[in-house]
Amino acid sequence: MADKYDVVVIGSGPAGYVAAIKAAQLGFKTACVEQWLDDKDKVQLGGTCLNVGCIPSKALLDSSYKFAEARDSLAVHGISVKDAQINVPAMLARKDKIIQQLTGGIAGLFKHNGVTAISGKGKVLVGAKVEVTDHKGTIQLLEAGNVIIAAGSLPVNIPPAPIDNEYIIDSTGALTLAEVPRRLGVIGAGVIGLELGSVWRRLGSEVVMLEALDEFLPMIDVQIAKEAGNIFRKQGLDIRLGARVTRAVVHNGSVQVTYSSADGEHSESFDRLIVAVGRRPNSQGLFASDSGVTLDERGFIYVNDNCETEAPHVYAVGDIVRGPMLAHKGSEEGIMVVERIAGKQAQLNYDCIPSVIYTHPEIAAVGKTEQELKADGVEYKTGVFPFAASGRALAANDPDGMVKLIVDAETDRILGCHVVGASAADLVQQVVIAMEFGSSAEDLALTVFSHPTLSEAVHEAALAVDGHAIHIANRKKR
Ligand code: FAD
Ligand code: NAD
Repeated sequence: MADKYDVVVIGSGPAGYVAAIKAAQLGFKTACVEQWLDDKDKVQLGGTCLNVGCIPSKALLDSSYKFAEARDSLAVHGISVKDAQINVPAMLARKDKIIQQLTGGIAGLFKHNGVTAISGKGKVLVGAKVEVTDHKGTIQLLEAGNVIIAAGSLPVNIPPAPIDNEYIIDSTGALTLAEVPRRLGVIGAGVIGLELGSVWRRLGSEVVMLEALDEFLPMIDVQIAKEAGNIFRKQGLDIRLGARVTRAVVHNGSVQVTYSSADGEHSESFDRLIVAVGRRPNSQGLFASDSGVTLDERGFIYVNDNCETEAPHVYAVGDIVRGPMLAHKGSEEGIMVVERIAGKQAQLNYDCIPSVIYTHPEIAAVGKTEQELKADGVEYKTGVFPFAASGRALAANDPDGMVKLIVDAETDRILGCHVVGASAADLVQQVVIAMEFGSSAEDLALTVFSHPTLSEAVHEAALAVDGHAIHIANRKKR
């Protein structure tokens, strides 16, 4: 006999667990199927984000930043720290404790809201049924009014650099290195490469990043990417663009990497090599061939704007569907789907999803970049304010970077905001709210900002759009 639920969610990452909690809150009998096991073979909730993604990487970024600050940057404040040391096992243990606290917290929220967590691998069958196989091979059938697939993503592997989980590692391995490698190679200067490369650079590694593309961070506004590249190079990240890795072999306890670039073939030796070349949807073996669920040409589950698959009552959300692979995007898709199941008309504004690279300084963005608007033939204006002119940034000894606001030339409506600088994530979030309310740059310019704050840079960038910034020389006068 199949167990019956109104909603069955497959996957308990930020897309799945949020959908499950929301469904239970709306009164649906809800189960969440998760295949991840802890070291005692108990179900481990939280997905990539909590276990091997957002949270552990930020824990290590914060620890390594504090260490680097104590070692390198406190003298300017008149504080002397003699012989700062990093205890890597203690740093990793702190990270693991945070993971346990947060994943245990989801288990508590499931209990509180009445979500049933089911341990095992879920497979969608025709007619919105879910077959669950647990780690002992026991099969259970669930009858679901609605199925939400939230099975997430996995790291991409490349044939020239096969992962051995010791010397050649992916992002998960890079979160558990027991000691600081003397020389660390990173394939891919994208989000993970920059975040995890920064962690180990701060702790003392010599970091070389091999990026296949000729352009650094092409998805970021070009002016911000250029500024960020300069800042990271000053921090000692050796970012080599146009570098195509052709071979990586482990020999005598080190990784010999061969790569080609415009000026020929090169080789480097590293103590460890991180492969961070993107992630792929985890869509293999997830549904029966007659289930009605289909994949797009890149292996993502095909969904429409409302996250409906081609099978009735089957939805998919998060990294396994099109769009940015971001935790908050998946969570909001989960909420939208559950509200639609409940008969509401929820929608997600895909034009207003912020993204952040948690380096120091951070890079954060929302909306259109200048290069996208040029390609679309949209007339726009920009306002830029550098942190070097911000009293608060100087007081904090954090003067690198800028805020850039992009607005429609005709209507003044905000089209995008791009920041490289301290607290960039929080600054861009202010503009996300403004954009959701359809604000113009003038609306921001007319808003009072506390002094002295980094937020004033957003205000000044809005003023700068029309050449009215107070604390910089404006490009044009009116
Ligand atoms: P996932 O979190 O991948 O969860 C999917 C879950 O489904 C997993 O638990 C998996 O075990 C389970 N599952 C899969 N198949 C089945 C099955 N058949 N049956 C049962 N269970 C199944 N994003 C941010 O927004 N901010 C960040 O700072 C950030 N940092 C990151 C750092 C790193 C190192 C990495 C790797 C990623 C980071 N991300 C970040 C991306 C973020 O982790 C993902 O966007 C997010 O986890 C996607 O959520 P999801 O729920 O779609 O999938
Ligand atoms: P990414 O797409 O950000 O970067 C991968 C980089 O590797 C790209 O620059 C790409 O050009 C390069 N590359 C690809 N193949 C290569 C090759 N053979 N040789 C050299 N370079 C190569 O992907 P990622 O850094 O692996 O991150 C995966 C996803 O996880 C991202 O899409 C991101 O959305 C998500 N993520 C988000 C955060 C965050 O929000 N802060 C943090 C980590 C990961």
